[in-house]
Amino acid sequence: MKELPPNLQRRLRSNVASGVFVFISVLMFGSVVVMLYTLAGRQRANQQSVREDAVWAAYQLDRETSELLGVIDAARVPGGGGDLEEIALRFDILMSRLSILQNAHFAERFGDDPALAEIARKLATGLDSLKRQFDDAMTAGALGSATLNQFAAEVADLRVTTERFLTSINTRKNEMKVIERREINRTYFILTICVGVMATALGAVILILFRQLNQIGRTQRELETLNRSYQEAAMAASAASRAKSAFLATMSHEIRTPLNGIIGSVDLLDLSASHQDQIASRETIRECGHSLIQIISDVLDFSKLESDSLDLENRPFQVAEVVEGVIEIVSPKARAKGLGLIAVYPMAVLTGDEGRLRQVLTNLCGNAVKFTEKGDVTVVVRPAVGRDGKSALRFEVRDTGIGISKTFLDQLFQEFNQVDASINRRFGGSGLGLAISRRLVEAMGGAIGVESDEGKGSCFWFTLPLPPGVELRPVELPLPPRGVDVLVTTPLASRVIEEDLDTHGAATLPAAGNVPEVKLRLVDVRQITRQKMLPDELRNSIVFGFESATVRDQVRAVVDGPYLSRRFREVLLLLSAPPAPTSTVEPPTSDTGLIKKTFRGHILLVEDNSINQKVARGLLTRLGATVEIADNGAIAVQSAAKGKFDLVLMDMQMPVMDGLEATRQIRQLPPEYAKVPIIGLTANAFASDRDACIAAGMHGFLSKPVNRQKLESVLEVWLEQTGVSETAGPSPSVAQPTSSPPSAG
Ligand code: ADP
Repeated sequence: MKELPPNLQRRLRSNVASGVFVFISVLMFGSVVVMLYTLAGRQRANQQSVREDAVWAAYQLDRETSELLGVIDAARVPGGGGDLEEIALRFDILMSRLSILQNAHFAERFGDDPALAEIARKLATGLDSLKRQFDDAMTAGALGSATLNQFAAEVADLRVTTERFLTSINTRKNEMKVIERREINRTYFILTICVGVMATALGAVILILFRQLNQIGRTQRELETLNRSYQEAAMAASAASRAKSAFLATMSHEIRTPLNGIIGSVDLLDLSASHQDQIASRETIRECGHSLIQIISDVLDFSKLESDSLDLENRPFQVAEVVEGVIEIVSPKARAKGLGLIAVYPMAVLTGDEGRLRQVLTNLCGNAVKFTEKGDVTVVVRPAVGRDGKSALRFEVRDTGIGISKTFLDQLFQEFNQVDASINRRFGGSGLGLAISRRLVEAMGGAIGVESDEGKGSCFWFTLPLPPGVELRPVELPLPPRGVDVLVTTPLASRVIEEDLDTHGAATLPAAGNVPEVKLRLVDVRQITRQKMLPDELRNSIVFGFESATVRDQVRAVVDGPYLSRRFREVLLLLSAPPAPTSTVEPPTSDTGLIKKTFRGHILLVEDNSINQKVARGLLTRLGATVEIADNGAIAVQSAAKGKFDLVLMDMQMPVMDGLEATRQIRQLPPEYAKVPIIGLTANAFASDRDACIAAGMHGFLSKPVNRQKLESVLEVWLEQTGVSETAGPSPSVAQPTSSPPSAG
């Protein structure tokens, strides 16, 4: 049976306690009644005995008076045998009876009766005077018959009084008995009423308790029913949520598959000579395809976050890698818009989920570029103190874009929220990016927020806590020697850059005023035309920013691309080294060459979708490989058993047998066939999928959509390179086996 909730348990305990209390009260009450009854009985018996003593004393008094009379009468008869000694003795006895009567609390018991008191007083004085007369006569030594007769007459009188006294005291005793009985009856009546009242109160308490216990029993039963129905509802809700997540996962996979086909086909078309119009259309298709994939990924991510099935990784990674990776992703758009892109970050190792951090930062930087038409997008990462006062790393993405009105700031991180409908029409987007970012940052233990000035720009920020006791670990990099004076000339972010240069050991000079002897200038390419800079000023300059390669001949060095902390540290290092034979230093640029390679090798492509088959086969063939296709895992195992492949590209989800099972079976083949490298192809680039690939025995995996760059990076590792092709394309991002994949999409 389910346990009672604590408050109910407390009430039950207190009721049990009051039950015990009532029981003890009843016991005490019972004992008081018994005690009262016993006391009353004893008191009654006592009073009765006192009364009996007084009556007995009166009786004795009467009897002794009669005895005295008898002895006096005997003394009066000559030869009757009575003597004076005997009379004196009887007098003494009579007097002692009188004192007994007085000692028997007569006055206490009967003193309230005036007649009785009068008789008693008369008796005492009569007896007293008689005794005195007798004593006088005895002292005189003569007791004549006349004296005796007088005595006899007086004792006879006394006898009448004692008789009356005895009768009266008896009558009085009987009257008092009647009164006492009445009083006792009254006391009993009052006691009975009290006991009745108490018994009624007790009965009421017991009744209330009983009803309360009943009520508690009922509440407990209701609670159990409620609990059961809540559990059922929760189970139903979680089943519904799981079903929704599964549906979304399946749907997004289903939608992603043809989309990947479309994007892959466009990549394939890139390889054939085309008319200018076709190239433009291909770009449009590619862009639309990528936005669709992004939206689907957002929805999938959101459903995962909602169903709490988010697994966070906890591995060390370099902050620089993440920031530079994100800057590389947003660079093409920033370049196209002519924006400045600046990223300042510490050379440090952080422990956490690199992929999720990249996802949040990509979303914020993507938005910053999307909503900024001119100016800069600046990323600043620096150690900070979190809201709880613990060490944290703060990421800021600042832009000089359209900004956000104050009224919308509060709702910005809620699902499906865009500032207004026109934003969606102008810029597109699902309105999920910030909501996902918020949930991810919170899942990582951090906080997220925004400050914005409408029309001027925004600053989105988030903090990630550093695990307790872990400080940001600096990466060991050589520092340029101190003493390089740099003049920074950039429209907006000069302060940030100056601070960054300072951490690299270069002293920055104030930009204002005339600075004649500057060892080194750092010039934003956009300032050259804006400030109409002269060749003399440029000669000793490093120019950075998009399209700065165009001024390469006039300056000391160019960095064609964003301002990146690590890159400028390297540049400063190079420039502060002893002068090279040539006066111009060529720092690394983002362009890594336009020539692509070709390979030799036989590849087993395991893929059930015919469009994907066509795309991947086309790309692989262009790259020089020969391809055999297996429609599912079972066919792949049969083909692999013949052992003529240099590489297997294995899809994950397939009918008949999936990629994981097929990999496991291939690893069971004889050693010469089992060793073939297997690379998984998966649309779900989550940590759990990657772990599953590796656990099944794969060497690595590629996230879908598979494009030429990704395939090339894999072939580079596993196949023999035979030469170069003449086709141009953007810089590849190299995917090493078992390295973390780019985000799904
Ligand atoms: P979306 O995918 O639509 O961009 P987000 O959740 O990322 O969804 O952003 C929600 C809305 O927040 C955007 O539609 C836009 O109105 C506003 N927004 C986000 N970032 C910025 C920014 N840097 N500048 C101005 N507005 C922004």
